[in-house]
Amino acid sequence: MIHEDLESKLDISYSVPEGIKESKVLLYRYIDKAVYVKQKTDDAVVLPDLEEVVKAIAEEAELVTGGKLSDGSSGPEPIYLFTIGETAFYTLAEEYLTAYTSLVAMNLATVELRFFRRSADRVYNFAAATGWQLYKWYVENKFCGRCSDYMLPGKTERSLVCSKCGMTVYPKIMPAVIVGVMNGDKILITRYKGRAYKGHALIAGFCEIGETAEDTVRREVMEESGLRVKNIRYYKSQPWGFDQDLLMGFYCDVDGSDEIKMDKGELSEAVWLDRTEIDDTFENMSLTNEMIVRFKEGEQV
Ligand SMILES: [Zn+2]
Repeated sequence: MIHEDLESKLDISYSVPEGIKESKVLLYRYIDKAVYVKQKTDDAVVLPDLEEVVKAIAEEAELVTGGKLSDGSSGPEPIYLFTIGETAFYTLAEEYLTAYTSLVAMNLATVELRFFRRSADRVYNFAAATGWQLYKWYVENKFCGRCSDYMLPGKTERSLVCSKCGMTVYPKIMPAVIVGVMNGDKILITRYKGRAYKGHALIAGFCEIGETAEDTVRREVMEESGLRVKNIRYYKSQPWGFDQDLLMGFYCDVDGSDEIKMDKGELSEAVWLDRTEIDDTFENMSLTNEMIVRFKEGEQV
């Protein structure tokens, strides 16, 4: 999966660790989920170095306004995100991108965030997705939801704290389940309606308030397929920053009737596929793909 082999290298602590060899900046465009890059090919990009971006903005500010940025500060303030191996990743408020032509002069190109679902660089894939999750949270929490004053970064932990009333918010992580419903040598395969991803999927959905993950499994399977399930067993989890999710994979067996009553609002297809009818191959990216391929290959699930 996209995050595997990286867990041991990821340092998500709030302060920059020692021994950093390079610092990259993840510049996002919120409106269309785009990422600014220095170079791109069909399956790889070069992310800009933090230093060159900060320098370009500061130099332009010096030229234009005598060293002060529009917010009164003397230089851009990068937000440290996390470190993977010896590379630290930062982000920068989008306002810097629109206000300063120096970044235009750097000839930055853009790629869709989705590009990082299958680029050749596994570190960048994970970094771009997880960076997006944090960036989106920062953008969407500029003001306090209780008293509408400014939110400021927490001093000792990753949080945003209201400058007036002290209300604190933490990064948003939405728990969701992916469910492999089995019926002997068959598994319930779905396709989602109205989404860019057209490949095979499994039943999936977000946990509701007050539910256990197992409750979510039972409810989502019933809502999307009309089936009852038993023998719910946890398989694995996957952080999925593209959609701010923490995905939890479960396998289970159909209980009673195997007649599918598909939710036509959510799905375009829901069918039982025999192991021999599945043509998916292992992509080492998504939990859904891994669960389908494990079943196809007859591994213990
Ligand atoms: Zn407040």
